[in-house]
Amino acid sequence: MKAAAFDYLQADSVGQAVALLSRHGDSAKLLAGGQSLLPALNLRLSAPALLIDIGRIASLRGIAVAGGVLRIGATVTHAELLASPEIASHAPLLTRAIAHVAHAAIRNRGTLGGSLANADPAAELPACALALGARILIDGPAGPRVVAAEDFFTGLFETVMAPDEVLVAVEIDLSPDAAWGFEELSRRSGDYAIVGLAAHRPRHGTPRLAYFAVGTSAILARHAAVALAQRGATPEGIAAAEAALADDLEPHDDPEASAAMRLHLARVLLRRVVGPWSRSA
Ligand SMILES: Cc1cc2nc3c(=O)[nH]c(=O)nc-3n(C[C@H](O)[C@H](O)[C@H](O)COP(=O)(O)OP(=O)(O)OC[C@H]3O[C@@H](n4cnc5c(N)ncnc54)[C@H](O)[C@@H]3O)c2cc1C
Repeated sequence: MKAAAFDYLQADSVGQAVALLSRHGDSAKLLAGGQSLLPALNLRLSAPALLIDIGRIASLRGIAVAGGVLRIGATVTHAELLASPEIASHAPLLTRAIAHVAHAAIRNRGTLGGSLANADPAAELPACALALGARILIDGPAGPRVVAAEDFFTGLFETVMAPDEVLVAVEIDLSPDAAWGFEELSRRSGDYAIVGLAAHRPRHGTPRLAYFAVGTSAILARHAAVALAQRGATPEGIAAAEAALADDLEPHDDPEASAAMRLHLARVLLRRVVGPWSRSA
């Protein structure tokens, strides 16, 4: 199947993209890497009259570290994240997770901002943003605003962003000596996960355990995190955290896995990710 006909405009600035979105309303969509949007158009799941290409906007690009903060522009591609020494040094969780996102051809075009805005519950990067306590920088007709990752994802393919807003960048506070871990289970390399876990434990503070593919959006397992914070990554702490996952997660049934299997796998991943922390606890 082919996409319905649409007009195409290239925006030169975030302001221009916002103005075009405001003018065209629901009939316009932003185009970043196109790796989720174009399949949706080709399947006629979406039929916008106008695509606004944000790929040439200079202010949406780049990875920078300054003042204790890592800033990643919205149109930084998955491949750029994977190859970045700054990301490997300051957010190794992302480097590890990106290797699980699709295949090289898709990683060459897909972007961080596109993945977060798309809010696929089985995608790796929304969970990483939750685990890292990221801030999402947004611009729109009412001006810029900043939203914590944990307030950003509101449901299945849904975020707090209005249709006329642009995701501009992601900021992550540097967290030296943090422990982290990433695991996912999928049928084949490059497939979306059946269950996945991105985790981050700052030097001082409660761990953040972000699951994906076990509900309508990436989700923080808060009860399990408290159990770990109270008892440490000890066998007792991990057992308590595993038990607490029943309160944190609402896994779904689908042809890939039953809800019960997903909860079981979520516990397996918790052990795999958090177990090694006991040696650094
Ligand atoms: C075969 C295949 C396998 C894949 N496997 C995986 C996988 O295993 N894991 C995974 O996470 N992803 C996977 N993906 C999706 C891929 O990672 C996409 O690149 C990503 O989800 C969307 O990024 P994009 O830049 O391509 O966004 P686009 O497709 O261009 O846009 C996606 C949506 O986000 C909106 N949008 C984009 N950028 C912005 C912005 N800056 N501000 C506001 N709205 C914006 C668009 O309007 C659109 O609605 C796969 C894709 C394919 C085709």
